[in-house]
Amino acid sequence: MAILRNPYAQRYPLWLKGNLHAHTTLSDGELSPDDTIDAFIRRGYDFVALTDHDVIANPNEAHFPQILVFAGVEHSAQQHILRVNITGTLPHDLSYQSVIDLTLQEGGLVILNHPNWGENFDHWRDSQLLHLQRYHGIEIYNNVIEYLEGSPYALDRWDRLLSEGRQVWGYANEDTHRVFQMGSAWNAVNVRERSKEAVLDALKDGRFYASTGVVIEEIVVEDGYYRVHTMNARELRLISLRGQVIERVSGSKATFSLSKAGVYARVEVIGEGEARAWTQPVFVE
Ligand SMILES: [Zn+2]
Repeated sequence: MAILRNPYAQRYPLWLKGNLHAHTTLSDGELSPDDTIDAFIRRGYDFVALTDHDVIANPNEAHFPQILVFAGVEHSAQQHILRVNITGTLPHDLSYQSVIDLTLQEGGLVILNHPNWGENFDHWRDSQLLHLQRYHGIEIYNNVIEYLEGSPYALDRWDRLLSEGRQVWGYANEDTHRVFQMGSAWNAVNVRERSKEAVLDALKDGRFYASTGVVIEEIVVEDGYYRVHTMNARELRLISLRGQVIERVSGSKATFSLSKAGVYARVEVIGEGEARAWTQPVFVE
C-alpha cells in the first residue's frame, strides 16, 4: 500500500472555522449581508462566504476585521453550483462545465450543491457528477435539505465518485437562510496563517474537515496510518471503497491502519445525537 495523495501531508497549528454557503436579504435569506456577517462573528466563525442566488453581495470588508469575508454566489440554474471567491455572476445558459472552468480561471472554489435534494434524491444525477470535471467537491451535508424533500447527506454519492477514482472533497454547508440554522454545519481548515489566500488553498487542497458538531483537534496521515483526535466523538470509522466500513473504534480518537484500504480511505466521526465530522480522503494504491 502506498499513499498517492494525502491532503494532510502539511500540518499547521492553526484551525479556522467557516461557513461557505449563506443567503441574505439580497435573495431569500433572513438577514442583510452586514447582519449575516455580524451573526457569524458573534458565533466565533473565522470566515464566511455570502452566496446568494445569482446576485453578489458586496459588503465593506474593512468594517469586519474580525472575520474573513468571501464574495460568492449560488449559480442557480436547473442545478445549483456554489462559486466562492468570484467577482461576477454567470448566465444560466452556459454549460455547467463552462461555469466550473470560468470559476477556476478567476481563482474560485467550486462546489456542487445538495446532490440528494428532491423526492428522487437527484438534484445532481450520478451521470452528471461523473461527467463534469475539475470541480473541487460536493456538499456531503446541506442543512436546508433537512427541511425539504430528499436527504441532507450525500455520502453515498461521494463514495461512488471516490470509488470511481475521482479526487473530490466533501463539504458540510449550512446553506443559511434563517438565523436558527446558524451553527448547524461548517468546515474547519488547517492553515499556515489567518488569510483568505491560506483558507482558500486549504479548501481547494482538501486540508480541512467537514462537521455538523464534532470538533477535530488533529489529523495525521503518515507511515500507513490515519490518525484522528477529536474533542467530542464517541466513535470513529475508517471508510474505504464503495463506502465500506473497514474498522470502528469507540472513544474520541483512533489510529487506523491503511493496510486494508483500496483506492481511498476517509474517516467518519460519530458524536452525540446527529453530530458528525468527516475528514477528507487520502488516495492509496
Ligand atoms: Zn443555497
